[in-house]
Amino acid sequence: MLFRDLKSEIAEIRDEIDGALARVLNSGNLILGTELEAFEDELGAYHDGLHVAGVASGMAGLRLLLQAYGIGSGDTVMVASNTYIATWLAVSAVGAKVLPVEPSITSRNLDASALPEVPPVGTRAILVTHLYGEPCDMVALRRYADRHGVLLLVDAAQSLGAEWKGSRSACMADGAALSFYPTKNLGALGDAGAVISQNSEIISTVKALRNYGMKKPGIHDLRGENARMEELHASVLRVKLRYLGERQDKLRRLAGLYIKQLAGVSTIQLPAPPRQVTHAWHLFTVLVNDRDLIQEKMFQVGIETAVHYPVPPHRTGAYASEFAWDSFPVASRISGSILSLPLYPSMRDEDVFHVVSVLTEALAL
Ligand SMILES: *Cc1c(COP(=O)(O)O)cnc(C)c1O
Repeated sequence: MLFRDLKSEIAEIRDEIDGALARVLNSGNLILGTELEAFEDELGAYHDGLHVAGVASGMAGLRLLLQAYGIGSGDTVMVASNTYIATWLAVSAVGAKVLPVEPSITSRNLDASALPEVPPVGTRAILVTHLYGEPCDMVALRRYADRHGVLLLVDAAQSLGAEWKGSRSACMADGAALSFYPTKNLGALGDAGAVISQNSEIISTVKALRNYGMKKPGIHDLRGENARMEELHASVLRVKLRYLGERQDKLRRLAGLYIKQLAGVSTIQLPAPPRQVTHAWHLFTVLVNDRDLIQEKMFQVGIETAVHYPVPPHRTGAYASEFAWDSFPVASRISGSILSLPLYPSMRDEDVFHVVSVLTEALAL
């Protein structure tokens, strides 16, 4: 069984995708045109009226969001010690310093109670990741951010479709970056991303930064770059956005089935989203002992699984010189035992039952 099935997801709406692409090709307008504007409006409407800037990737979105808030050299940004390395890299890319904070082993999300009592001087923001699609505890984080006068930003690359107490915009605090990498909940036909915020000035700054710092034609007020979302991607994302709700419903049902079927297995730690949260289920992850062995056994009977992520950022070559090997025991423990099970909308109930029986069998051996 596949881990993902992008081929069939594309095939299901192929005619509409072809139609969108044809519309762009016939228009002859390939960059910064009407498709991007329409997509930004539609994604804004999906987020209860927030402002949106389409960009070239999730990484570009994170970088430009930080830059738009004026975060750079001499500043510190708190991040989760177990997030995908892109979160850290974006902070480093603007010249700021990362201050990793440990996650809770239950939510795998940055643990608000692990935040330093007082943020170090120079701390400008907490950049949390709603990892695997589960929103962080935004009430506790907001309280902390307000008390200490720091921004609350979100790496929402995995959490499109998530809700906090029924609200999508509340998931996003002072600003968020989204990724439309093909395997994400809303996937483009290549790289694309977005920045969303309630702050319209921040979004117009991001729009300038993505286009060489240009606010008006020929006027370069900022040191920007090229990080524009292409019209072809915007046109396809508009089609796929219409199916997002349906897609999320399917994932939520399948994830519920996994949880129900695995609930009694004491050797597995399941995701346990709190009641006020709607999980986006970008990934269905479990914690197991002997993860590599379990993964290998499942692979041998034809079930693809994945590991997100096998090495915590502080142990990578990119950051090992800055942090001691054993600095973040919770992140390290998670990376040693986390396992992502197959989850995609066209999975049938029987597929879930099959994965569950193979996994429980592997655990029993
Ligand atoms: C995918 C992802 C990114 C990067 O998005 P790209 O579009 O690949 O640049 C950043 N952070 C997290 C948590 C991600 O999952």
